[in-house]
Amino acid sequence: MPTTVTHWVNNKPYPGAGETTAPVTNPATGAVTGEVALAAVEDTRAVIAAAAAAFPAWRDTSLAKRVEVLFRFRELLNSRRHELAEIITAEHGKVLSDALGEVSRGQEVVEFACGIPHLLRGGYTENASTKVDVFSIQQPLGPVGIISPFNFPAMVPMWFFPVAIAAGNTVVVKPSEKDPSASMWIAELWKEAGLPDGVFNVVHGDKTAVDEVLTNPAIKAISFVGSTPVARYVYATATAAGKRVQALGGAKNHAIVLPDADLDLAADAMVNAGFGSAGERCMAISACVAVGDIADELVTKIADRTRPLITGDGTRGADMGPLVTSAHRDRVRSYVDAGAAAGATIVVDGRTVTPDVGADGFWLGPTLIDNVTTDMSIYTDEIFGPVLSVVRVDTYDQALELINANPYGNGTAIFTNDGGAARRFQNEVEVGMVGINVPIPVPMAYYSFGGWKASLFGDSHAHGTQGVQFFTRTKAVTSRWLDPSHGGINLGFPQNT
Ligand code: NAD
Repeated sequence: MPTTVTHWVNNKPYPGAGETTAPVTNPATGAVTGEVALAAVEDTRAVIAAAAAAFPAWRDTSLAKRVEVLFRFRELLNSRRHELAEIITAEHGKVLSDALGEVSRGQEVVEFACGIPHLLRGGYTENASTKVDVFSIQQPLGPVGIISPFNFPAMVPMWFFPVAIAAGNTVVVKPSEKDPSASMWIAELWKEAGLPDGVFNVVHGDKTAVDEVLTNPAIKAISFVGSTPVARYVYATATAAGKRVQALGGAKNHAIVLPDADLDLAADAMVNAGFGSAGERCMAISACVAVGDIADELVTKIADRTRPLITGDGTRGADMGPLVTSAHRDRVRSYVDAGAAAGATIVVDGRTVTPDVGADGFWLGPTLIDNVTTDMSIYTDEIFGPVLSVVRVDTYDQALELINANPYGNGTAIFTNDGGAARRFQNEVEVGMVGINVPIPVPMAYYSFGGWKASLFGDSHAHGTQGVQFFTRTKAVTSRWLDPSHGGINLGFPQNT
């Protein structure tokens, strides 16, 4: 039976008054499995109002009690993560093992946020001036908005809400309308963990809902993840409305393979990072830059590993699942057509894939394209599909120049056995997250995740200490307790004594 996914307010489902819905599909079968409510402006306002009403009490809830709830949430998530992974696979299409990986990377942030008492410890200076003490405290902002993309329906919201909630904020999540159910499962888990009403809320919708979250005066900060044009719009709109914003955008991640690299390791890495999650990862490698005369051998090794991959239903042990929608599959496919027409060499052609289930799913097999040049759309655009382009260059400097000239700067990697070359790369490359013989260098939760250039608007990356700073504001308090009486009249600006 198709289900209707509603909003979630005050620890219960909220149908809202909006009359429009969007279909939810299983990308492996093409079947419509449900529909999701698209919030009208009034619905979004009601959700935000609940978050605003819950803020004063949650802000004043002791750190010990907040952490108790977080630990319970972590335990529930850990013991029931398979349920969440199944929901992700059913609506996103990624294979189950990959969905489980997504959940565990999100769980890491919950674990990080359990350390909030330590993270919020301020500084204290005794006797800054005679008998004057100065200290700083970090306070929550209020209700915050989290707007997330389709490709990590559990992990991306979890980059933000554990830290936001631990720090004393209340939250309104606006998930992608393509895979909305993961956030509802998470909402129920929070309820079971004992989170008070109104602290974690979900509003489903499209631009109408997003625009209200971006401009509603009750919302104090926005964490957005999605494509670069929308990230740019979100940053401009919400900062103009006076909010603090971190807006993470798209990517075009390059991996350089130097002539001295272990080519088997590099080929494994290209396949894993190029085709994992059908390339629908912001940290996917989409451009492999082969330096020098290793290119033929490297392409052969990548092709040999790509051909046996099984594309199919993610619940049945396939290596790679479908793309998220038929429209997206068609778009990715058209890039492969354009690459072929422009003269690139299609080494492995995913357009002819035979999936392990019916043909109604949104299929495109792993595709390897060689001799790609920088003027081809397959190189210039973010494709967000299982398409790995190989660009051949002669030198490290040419490879570096390609990356630094790219408008995006999310992730990158270098494959080499030369420590000096790797060190030079980490110093010179203009990208936020760098891997050395590591293809998908997603930082651990206690570091911060974020790209440079058109991959991030704002100055705070996600989670880690930057996440804690983003979701708090600092207050510096200067205090003097008189002993035994007043300090006398002095109209001058305070000076140290
Ligand atoms: P998207 O930009 O289409 O949507 C992201 C969110 O914005 C969704 O919740 C969507 O409902 C909303 N939205 C879409 N169009 C909007 C509009 N015109 N106005 C207001 N809101 C709008 O992105 P997507 O297709 O869901 O996700 C894929 C993109 O996300 C890729 O570009 C990928 O690189 C990027 N991404 C980036 C990171 C990162 O860390 N930098 C992580 C994951 C995904």
